[in-house]
Amino acid sequence: MVQAPILPTMNAASAAAARDAFGRRMSYLRISLTDRCNFRCLYCMPAVGMKFQPRDELLTDAELLRLIGLFTKMGFDKFRLTGGEPTVRPHLVDIVRGIKAHKGVRELSMTTNALLLGRNAADLKAAGLDRVNVSIDTLDPVKFKMMTRGGRLDLVWQGIEAADAAGLRPIKLNSVVLKEHNDHEVEQLAELTLTRDWQVRFLEIMPMEGVGMVYDERLVTSEETKLRLEARFGPLEPVEADAADPARLWRIPGARGTIGFISPISAPFCEACNRVRLTADGMLRLCLLRPDEVNLRDRLRAGASDDDLLAELRGGIWRKPWGHGVAEGERDTVRGMSQIGG
Ligand code: SAM
Repeated sequence: MVQAPILPTMNAASAAAARDAFGRRMSYLRISLTDRCNFRCLYCMPAVGMKFQPRDELLTDAELLRLIGLFTKMGFDKFRLTGGEPTVRPHLVDIVRGIKAHKGVRELSMTTNALLLGRNAADLKAAGLDRVNVSIDTLDPVKFKMMTRGGRLDLVWQGIEAADAAGLRPIKLNSVVLKEHNDHEVEQLAELTLTRDWQVRFLEIMPMEGVGMVYDERLVTSEETKLRLEARFGPLEPVEADAADPARLWRIPGARGTIGFISPISAPFCEACNRVRLTADGMLRLCLLRPDEVNLRDRLRAGASDDDLLAELRGGIWRKPWGHGVAEGERDTVRGMSQIGG
């Protein structure tokens, strides 16, 4: 349901915390470090025709760190690195250290395919990364190669174990469930929680640019996945979750870990949204699924002061759309998921 905006009782630019016109407070920034990726997951990128941005269009490390400092001034305290694939960004360990050096960064996490984590998990932890979410849609190496268009499951698994050993915990595994691709494997993924204290999360596919047909043909709702799991494991037990967490949590009775369902399509969580995104090319993206953006990069490069940029940020956040509008047929036809940062 579309909400009416609340009337501002003070100038939006003068309030300390960043709020939108609906009264939602923003405190969580997802930062895309690159639009490049070493996988080509079939629900994320089209098989052919991906164009990557020239490096000079991406924020430099210094520009990125300056912007993050400004976000902390507005009360943002939770940050997540994503992409593309964040681990292919040069100087990742230094970037992590630089972000964590900002007073006010309470939590810094990363969403990754884990392919390169075997090499750098310990360095990332030492630099200040708190935890990781790893995307893994199947435990079958052949299927994995097919769904990622070339990825190696053995290396990804090594990466997950390296992250666990390095203390990048709690580990969360993300799996996008697709009809006739991996929907018959959700039990196997969920079984991981019996022995590991991980959170295995099942995501509904979203209709991003470049994968519209996959969405139209392959969407599996969280309810369908849950029914499937309950047919195997019996009734799942509810687990209390943070209200701002998009995952609804459950547990197989007696399991060490938990199971999460992320349901942007069947049960949108826009009302509790507390996040905005910063794309690798320096756009403040107000909603994952809507094209509304504020060009911070050009303002930065034109010499804007911190106060100018803060006003730009607050003004943009104030205009954050209420909801993603997928039910009404809204789709961004310009940027795909890997160009925004999921
Ligand atoms: N490369 C990293 C990874 O694989 O986790 C980070 C970027 S990826 C775009 C971030 C998350 O978006 C992953 O968990 C991925 O499964 C999810 N994702 C990508 N395309 C999606 C889609 N169309 N619908 C739902 N989730 C999607």
